[in-house]
Amino acid sequence: MGSLTRRDFLNGVALGVGGALLSPRDALGLSLDAATDDPSSYPPALTGMRGSHDGSFEVAHALRDGSFWTTAGLPTDTGERYDLVVVGAGISGLAAAWYFSKAAGSSARILVLDNHDDFGGHARRNEFQVGGRTVIGYGGTFAIDSPAPYSATASALLTELGIDVTRWGRMVERGLYAGLGMSASVFFDRETFGADRLVRAPAAILEQGTPAPATGQADPLAVFLADAPLSDSARRDVGRLVKAPADYLPGLDDAQRKARLARMSYADFLVKIAGCDSGLLPLFQARPHSLYGLGIDAVSALDAWGLGLPGFAGMQLEPTAGPGMGLDARPGPRSPFLHFPDGNATIARLLVRRLIPHAVPGRTADDVVLSRVDYGRLDEPGPVRVRLNSTVVRARHTSKSTEVEVDYVRAGRLERTRAGSCVLACWSGVIPYLCPELSRAQREALAYATKVPIVQTTALLRRWTSFHALGVSQAHCPGSFHTSVGLDLPVRVGRYQPSRRPEEPIIVQMMRTPCRPGLPAREQHRAGRVELLTMTFDTFEQNVRDQLTRMLGAGGFDAARDVRALTVNRWPHGYAYQYNSLWDPFWLNGGPLPCVAARRPFGRIAIANADAAAYAYTDAAIDQAYRAVGEVLTRA
Ligand SMILES: Cc1cc2nc3c(=O)[nH]c(=O)nc-3n(C[C@H](O)[C@H](O)[C@H](O)COP(=O)(O)OP(=O)(O)OC[C@H]3O[C@@H](n4cnc5c(N)ncnc54)[C@H](O)[C@@H]3O)c2cc1C
Repeated sequence: MGSLTRRDFLNGVALGVGGALLSPRDALGLSLDAATDDPSSYPPALTGMRGSHDGSFEVAHALRDGSFWTTAGLPTDTGERYDLVVVGAGISGLAAAWYFSKAAGSSARILVLDNHDDFGGHARRNEFQVGGRTVIGYGGTFAIDSPAPYSATASALLTELGIDVTRWGRMVERGLYAGLGMSASVFFDRETFGADRLVRAPAAILEQGTPAPATGQADPLAVFLADAPLSDSARRDVGRLVKAPADYLPGLDDAQRKARLARMSYADFLVKIAGCDSGLLPLFQARPHSLYGLGIDAVSALDAWGLGLPGFAGMQLEPTAGPGMGLDARPGPRSPFLHFPDGNATIARLLVRRLIPHAVPGRTADDVVLSRVDYGRLDEPGPVRVRLNSTVVRARHTSKSTEVEVDYVRAGRLERTRAGSCVLACWSGVIPYLCPELSRAQREALAYATKVPIVQTTALLRRWTSFHALGVSQAHCPGSFHTSVGLDLPVRVGRYQPSRRPEEPIIVQMMRTPCRPGLPAREQHRAGRVELLTMTFDTFEQNVRDQLTRMLGAGGFDAARDVRALTVNRWPHGYAYQYNSLWDPFWLNGGPLPCVAARRPFGRIAIANADAAAYAYTDAAIDQAYRAVGEVLTRA
């Protein structure tokens, strides 16, 4: 395993599973040796439908639908008065609390409210106990990694939290899977390709570039294409795109080529410009899913070039950004990569340790990985409190205008608290419903920040012998329910050790990004969100079972025996929406950005969250928190 980035998800890096899904936690009793002492008070150990779990969104949806206030009644005044109330306990909200507490002094009183039963927002931890050991996975944010370098602000926060971003090479067990003869594959499914087939994939198919085969070895691309259930013409065209792409836009200079490519989808480029057989489209359709939540019908050819998809080598494009390129696709230096077993939930836990030290035992970024957070202490009286299961329904200035009152629903009760300032670190799309004072223009700008739906499924496997037998550590599955499946990255940190032998338990991570090819991007996201809110856990379970059995059955995989637990992290409101040259004209033409108009502070209320930057990365969440806290401090 070489250096890995979140972009490598594009290349099929995830984890694979299979199994008899247990889920609602009671059903798991048999399979988990000792899940947790008291799972109801330890959310990372809960299985079944997680992410935006039942109970976290109903109040907000009633607010959206206009039915909330008709039955809400009057709020109960908690009598509490804070210096700052933060809405949203994601990394942005927690960072905002930390910046404020540093600036205002350790006695500043801060309340952080979140609608979920866990903190961290998308940075979610999934934790399992099996055979006397703790196995940790991520339910959302995968890694410290960004298409651009972290800002000085975001880098300084990581340093302050004790995170050394240069240590990745010392944490990862490089070569573990390759040493066992395992590598990346493509799983072709019969519904899309006419046959279920797992085919070892060469770098030329799943990664950028066209590595030459070692002397004397069969050309891996030729082997792949021979096994792939594609038509002869589709095979021929894949080979041509990878090995001998022509200059498909002759007579244009670099800028003109990029301007053309920015205005057509990659699917159109392949068929209409490169003259490929449309039978190859299903092979590439899901390649941008993990970054864009969209397929190649809705991602520009220019972005496809930036992401390293095949077909552009003959055009000799300069490695500089073109007009309206997606932030993920731009060439240039990027941040260092670092993945903790629970992804960036480690950052959230380290922030909570700073804010409420007694709730998170330990001292270092290493020991926090196995530290058990005491959720019962998060909302104890003290300078900083984190109140979970609390959906904010209104934030507005009182008649004094030096004070903000914040109403929220907790356990079915409408409560009110007051603060000198408020940072809304929740999703931009929610804010118009919370803040009646906002101008119409700002509400519209906020509403533009539609979210990208995404599912990160975590399955605990009893062992990974079937992966080993088939020589696969991860698979890109372009037509399947989950489009990526992969064994957990083998990282060791502190006392945490990865699974090293195929006979040991392991986590398999799977990703699904529901979308509707053919529709405009934002409509695809909307349709995917509806799917996620209506699909039951049983349906997820059946699909996981089915997909893994078909992929791995030949290696001895037995779902009933091998899967010990399943957690479906459902994020109908997932990635921040990033602008796209095919769908956002202002992005292509350099017009004003909705996120800039959306994040304007008003009175003593400021707006944070990654949405405020239209950039779905942790550094954006931190940078926006820093800006928002600066704004409330200057107005306090
Ligand atoms: C599956 C997935 C994988 C990702 N992987 C990566 C990655 O590898 N690297 C990376 O840098 N970024 C990744 N991201 C992007 C991630 O969103 C950001 O990194 C960052 O964590 C966003 O933090 P945030 O605090 O801005 O937003 P969020 O994490 O969304 O936190 C906002 C919180 O506000 C809460 N909230 C909303 N409305 C209300 C309300 N009315 N009342 C109370 N609370 C409310 C939300 O429920 C949420 O808990 C990923 C995102 C997803 C969904």
